[in-house]
Amino acid sequence: VPQVEADLVLPVAVGDYTDFYASIHHATNVGRMMRPDNPLLPNYRWVPIGYHGRASSLVVSETPVVRPHGQVKPESAEVPEHRASQRLDYELELGAYIGVGNAPGVPIDASDAHRHLFGLCLVNDWSARDIQAWEYQPLGPFLSKSFATSLSPWVVTAQALEPFRRAPEPRLEGAPAPLAYLDAGYERERGAFDVELEVWLTSAQMRAAHQPPVCVTRSHARHLYWTLGQLITHHASNGCNLRPGDLLASGTVSGPDPASRGCLLERTWRGTEPLVLPGGEQRRFLEDGDEVVIRGRAVRAGRTTIGFGECRARIAPARDGA
Ligand code: CA
Repeated sequence: VPQVEADLVLPVAVGDYTDFYASIHHATNVGRMMRPDNPLLPNYRWVPIGYHGRASSLVVSETPVVRPHGQVKPESAEVPEHRASQRLDYELELGAYIGVGNAPGVPIDASDAHRHLFGLCLVNDWSARDIQAWEYQPLGPFLSKSFATSLSPWVVTAQALEPFRRAPEPRLEGAPAPLAYLDAGYERERGAFDVELEVWLTSAQMRAAHQPPVCVTRSHARHLYWTLGQLITHHASNGCNLRPGDLLASGTVSGPDPASRGCLLERTWRGTEPLVLPGGEQRRFLEDGDEVVIRGRAVRAGRTTIGFGECRARIAPARDGA
């Protein structure tokens, strides 16, 4: 079957999905919007932050994403209301499928963690920022994230990515060394990946005018503060069992410069610095008809580049009267 005629489906029936927060640049930017004096919470440099996501609403690339309804409370309002989200966002993430799991109660040593990684994919962790802002304290995101998470249909195996392994970026000045259970020579030397990541956007108006997509984020997997191996080890460190086909997502992969910010919340600084699209439209957050495409490729001089395919989806209008 030619690829263009094939209906692509999710490669894995994911049992459990966990979303991490592994880019210190993303955590610092988001923290700065909430707490200008104290952007990065004191636990960040010590403990990989994550939450249990929702496996049932993982969808394959090209599945439309319906704008969710939710409870929101604008700062100016006395009481919350239930309405369609007005602050829908994408999050550029890297996904990691577990291959070999661990038995309940048996942690995964950091030096073995890479052997539990089956392969990588692209993830768009759609986020309704207005719903998130009202619901996230004290237990973290809930309905602002669980309406849909898009995945690319291809798994790039850890084996294929061996030549693209690299040392993580050096930690910023003053950052502590990881605690011993998160530390391993393999992760220090080869825990990161040379994977370039991009987000492309078109609006309905751009497509009608035959304008090409515009690149709104250009980032790189090396910006992650925690390696995927460290995320695996941390996840299992309390005895929680990971099972084959479980999905761990990295969290938004933002880098240090504005063009590498991996979501509109950061890219437009909460909507205060809108992007101007070709044709003159402004974007603070996603509008109905917008199409977001995440692309990735493993790149290393002297090696054949490996494409990750794409993770693509278009925003459909909210359901009437939901
Ligand atoms: Ca996320």
